[in-house]
Amino acid sequence: MPRHSLIGISCGTERIRDRMRVRVNAAYTRAVERAGAVPVIIPPFGEAAMASTVLLGLDGLVLTGGEDIDPSLYDEAPHPSLGPVNVERDATEIALVESARAAGRPTLAICRGMQLLNVALGGSLIQDIRAQRPGSLDHDESERRAVRVHPVEASGKSLLAEALGGERLTVNSSHHQALDRVADGLRVSALAPDGMIEGVEWIGGDWWAVGVQWHPEELVSSEESWDRSLFAALVEQAESARDPAAGRQEMRRQRLSS
Ligand code: MN
Repeated sequence: MPRHSLIGISCGTERIRDRMRVRVNAAYTRAVERAGAVPVIIPPFGEAAMASTVLLGLDGLVLTGGEDIDPSLYDEAPHPSLGPVNVERDATEIALVESARAAGRPTLAICRGMQLLNVALGGSLIQDIRAQRPGSLDHDESERRAVRVHPVEASGKSLLAEALGGERLTVNSSHHQALDRVADGLRVSALAPDGMIEGVEWIGGDWWAVGVQWHPEELVSSEESWDRSLFAALVEQAESARDPAAGRQEMRRQRLSS
């Protein structure tokens, strides 16, 4: 009996009614479930090494949105507009990225997740777009979280364009930070009209790791299929990564079509 793929979902913490809670928007778990896989919640660990243990039990990973990343992780002092940080979450997710890369587990990195992927691999961030890149588009449309507010152009030959099923799309935008220096090992796969980086991906063919700055999990019910296709691509990658026979079939299909 074939089992469903298990996709890890990283989480933040938030104080609600005086207790710290592990929390993640249900939009992420629903989007993974709707794509045919089981979402598995990964809390921030006090001991980051636990991340590699849980990762090895998973078939794929989603790094989610949330708190700002501690700028000391990219050797910068905090800007006055920096938001709250969560150092346990940073450490857990960096360990998840290292393990996912080593084990080749397909990874979809969303918003903060894409920023974390970049920092984990040695890149840096713009700590506040409004303060540090005045004149940019308004990327912080948090009140319109599920509304497509700006265009994005994806590179023709990218994993991202392949996963989306297109190169020109419009996206939602709920971020006050963005990628600055792109890490070695990543390439830019999508840009907004103001030059903000809206997508990156792993260059080597050994790891399907795709980052997007927008929130596809909020758009899977929209008329346009791009965001559904992105989650479907993650689950497809997870299935072929854990089933070498499926992987071989895929390679055969690609050979026949090339
Ligand atoms: Mn944006």
